[in-house]
Amino acid sequence: MNNSSRIDKKSAAAFSEAKKIIPGGVNSPVRAFKSVGLTPLFIDRGAGSRVTDIDGNTFIDYVGSWGPLIVGHAHPAVLEAIRTTAEKGTSFGAPTELETEMARLVIERVPSVEMVRMVNSGTEATMSALRLARGYTKRNKIVKFEGSYHGHADSLLIKAGSGVATLGLPDSPGVPESVAVNTITVPYNDLESIRVVFEKFGEDIAAVIVEPVAGNMGVVPPAEGFLQGLRDVTKQYGSLLIFDEVMTGFRVHKNCAQGLYGVTPDLTCMGKVIGGGLPVGAYGGRLDIMEHIAPAGSIYQAGTLSGNPLAMAAGYTTLKLLGEPGVYEELERKSARLEEGFKKNAAEFGIPSTINRVGSMLCPFFTEQQVVNYETAKTSDLGRFNAYFGHLLDLGVSVAPSQFEGMFISTVHTNEDIEETIAAHREALKRL
Ligand code: PMP
Repeated sequence: MNNSSRIDKKSAAAFSEAKKIIPGGVNSPVRAFKSVGLTPLFIDRGAGSRVTDIDGNTFIDYVGSWGPLIVGHAHPAVLEAIRTTAEKGTSFGAPTELETEMARLVIERVPSVEMVRMVNSGTEATMSALRLARGYTKRNKIVKFEGSYHGHADSLLIKAGSGVATLGLPDSPGVPESVAVNTITVPYNDLESIRVVFEKFGEDIAAVIVEPVAGNMGVVPPAEGFLQGLRDVTKQYGSLLIFDEVMTGFRVHKNCAQGLYGVTPDLTCMGKVIGGGLPVGAYGGRLDIMEHIAPAGSIYQAGTLSGNPLAMAAGYTTLKLLGEPGVYEELERKSARLEEGFKKNAAEFGIPSTINRVGSMLCPFFTEQQVVNYETAKTSDLGRFNAYFGHLLDLGVSVAPSQFEGMFISTVHTNEDIEETIAAHREALKRL
């Protein structure tokens, strides 16, 4: 592998064409490579652990479509499922048995979920779960954490992470003040602040929404007792606890983060992995709450393409692959090896470094501080990250173009991929 003379002429031309007719040239902001000051790669194809751009450069890929591709690009079983399903038609707007099978599988895997509704994205999942929480509790306020990202619904675009943090747009224009006043934000991992907020507003709080492992300010694990503390305080005040497992769901553990940490939320939002690379989200939880969703109940939520057969086929097949014995153990082993290699490299060059990892979510920060929330994530040297990102790309490794995102290891990254990545990381640090 050596892409050190990376020629990206076609990508650059494609980008300038796209910019004329698509805002910023992209259909989702962080893809534009704006914060790292580079031109985005236009991708031609992916296979297994690698992607190839339209200039013919191939990269070991840790973006994995921002999380969904836990079994890698173009997995043969996933493609086969999509193909055979598509032959029977792509969408009906009528129920199919596949949707019930999918719901059954999700309920079997996710401890807190007794009933589940499919939607088309993570944004729809969190937006719908919030409406449900508000409708069910008849309260308006919600609590979220600084630097967490839960999609781009109005109530949730307050002090958000991911692209919002990357582009430095903490409070988006277009979100009405009347909506923003109902969103309370507190630092991640800070139970003390949560208690203060509940003492003041507890009777008005419909829900706390939390990423059980934060993945949109880089990767930040929950502190010991944090998730249980949220469980206790929400229960005490009759508020709902919503786990946003759009990123962590089926990623950090077969039974999602709630299985890993043994804390049971009232509602869970899912996305990414559950769609196997097709547009899917889902929200589910306690039966007595979920039964309030229309047409069983009166809280409205709908979707022309929700439960789409192709998406169900891709997601179902992905979850089945993940259900095979040893899959998560193997992911853990490879991810731990990557972490160990990265740590050794940083030590060799004396580069300030903190590496956070939960399972196959990993994030190297350029800071010596422990990263426990958004404030500490921001102590990372972003200039250094940007240079590191460019070097990695030149060395044939693709990671998300932002410090405030993690790397995703997949089941098809080979031991050789991992060793090549550690070597590329070493070289990138050496060049800094
Ligand atoms: N919640 C979390 C935790 C996420 O990471 C994301 C996307 N990165 C979303 C919600 C939104 O999902 P989508 O982009 O599918 O709307």
